[in-house]
Amino acid sequence: MNREETLLENVQKVQAALCASCRKAGRRPEEVTLLAVTKYAQDAEVLFLLRQGLIKHVGESRVQQALLRWTRPDFAAFPTVKHLIGHLQHNKAAKAARFFDFIDSLDDFSTACLVDKHIQPGRQVRGLVQIKLTSRDTQSGLPLGQARELAKQLRSLSRLKVCGYMAIAPQGADPHELKAFFEPIKKAFDEDFSPKEERYLSLGMSEDFTVAVEAGSTLPRIGSKLFA
Ligand SMILES: *Cc1c(COP(=O)(O)O)cnc(C)c1O
Repeated sequence: MNREETLLENVQKVQAALCASCRKAGRRPEEVTLLAVTKYAQDAEVLFLLRQGLIKHVGESRVQQALLRWTRPDFAAFPTVKHLIGHLQHNKAAKAARFFDFIDSLDDFSTACLVDKHIQPGRQVRGLVQIKLTSRDTQSGLPLGQARELAKQLRSLSRLKVCGYMAIAPQGADPHELKAFFEPIKKAFDEDFSPKEERYLSLGMSEDFTVAVEAGSTLPRIGSKLFA
């Protein structure tokens, strides 16, 4: 198989697994949006999947790297929805506000306010508050209670529209442990964001997205399973 055939097969496998998880959980596949994480992918690989019309929501970890790639004319020609999934530093807030459609990693009130301030008039940026699931200091995000508090505080912003939660599960957790991590987040999500409004719950990466979708994720973030 050549590289393009491999990429096509990867996408098909991921989509089939997403559908199977939806079926298992009694959910409709349309409720789930694939967020393709492109941070490790080569330009040619990403362009190939864009040309095939197979990816629309794309995620990058770093502001500067995302700008370099997605402002190039060959990338900018595609109508993508761009997500920042990595930690947002205060000094990158203005740049991020002007470029991304979604900031999925909000965990700080003053940075979020700075983003809101720099979004161009007439434009809206969606924001998710990141929940921290481990006590490791290196992970960004907030413990669930504080994350819910921040989501409530940010409701007053108008250009940055907070509409859900994001979380990264600990590596190596088994499906049973993963369910235990995801369940309280899904419960908080349902209490804090009504199904009648636009809302997103971003749980699951390459290694755990099937469990995450069964637990209610609407926006799994998948990198290595697509670009392996
Ligand atoms: C890199 C990254 C992903 C994708 O991880 P894979 O295991 O390659 O699917 C998802 N979410 C975040 C926040 C990431 O930084």
